[in-house]
Amino acid sequence: MLKKTGNYETTYVEGEEIPSIRYHIFQSISFVRDGFSTRMGGISEGSFATLNFSVKMGDTRERVQENFRRYILAHGFQNPVMADQVHGIRVKRVYKEDAGKNVFIPKDDSGMDGLVTNEPGITLITTFADCVPLYFVDEEHRAIGLSHAGWRGTLAGMAGETLKVMNREFGTKPEHVKAAIGPSICVNCYEVSRELAEEFADVLNCEMVYGAEKHLPEWDMNHTAYERDGKFYLNLWAANYQMMCASGIPKEQIALPDLCTCCNDTILFSHRASRGKRGNLCAFLMIEE
Ligand SMILES: [Zn+2]
Repeated sequence: MLKKTGNYETTYVEGEEIPSIRYHIFQSISFVRDGFSTRMGGISEGSFATLNFSVKMGDTRERVQENFRRYILAHGFQNPVMADQVHGIRVKRVYKEDAGKNVFIPKDDSGMDGLVTNEPGITLITTFADCVPLYFVDEEHRAIGLSHAGWRGTLAGMAGETLKVMNREFGTKPEHVKAAIGPSICVNCYEVSRELAEEFADVLNCEMVYGAEKHLPEWDMNHTAYERDGKFYLNLWAANYQMMCASGIPKEQIALPDLCTCCNDTILFSHRASRGKRGNLCAFLMIEE
């Protein structure tokens, strides 16, 4: 049973054997299919149990590829292409001929943390274990973007960069974009250094909250950094929300996450909760054919 976080409900779960987390905000858009995996429904073992989508931590390629086959088949996705992420902000446009790259065709291209396309029938994939998935759907031009933003990518402006590339490639205007911030680590689970907390408060031009209450308000999108009992915490959801707003996406068109990977570490993979012994989740986004 997933433990919901925040005072809003933005996601629902589809499928029982191989569950997929989906966003209500995309339900009204007939041409798009979204998904976010859980640990359930795969064949991997140990700390990768069971639906692991990465070979980088030592799982076998056979198991990871079988996990991809199962999830993709169960949820109606086609022609997967995955970003080979490096905590940067490079965004790449992909086409149908890129199908299979970094999923069934190992290491074709590396060094991108975001993918965009306007071609139907190709599935964009980014991979996670606490970092923040960013989904973008341009209803006007029928184009999509999917990005990975950890603290580095968030700070470097991944949200704005993805929109910039979508604008350049497809003419996307932020006011016609619906976006979602995917399941990732919540502020209560994300203790960071004082320096990093201060840097976020500075870059986003919002004051650090000192002497914060015991339960940090993950729903407060006006603050990104907190101090409590000499420890510092970062709200990556608020930071990405602010970045999306600053890029011009209307507030009511942004869905926040209501799931923390670290609070739900038996169902979702969390780097923090597992101290690095874990598999990878994936976000999926496709334009239907
Ligand atoms: Zn949490």
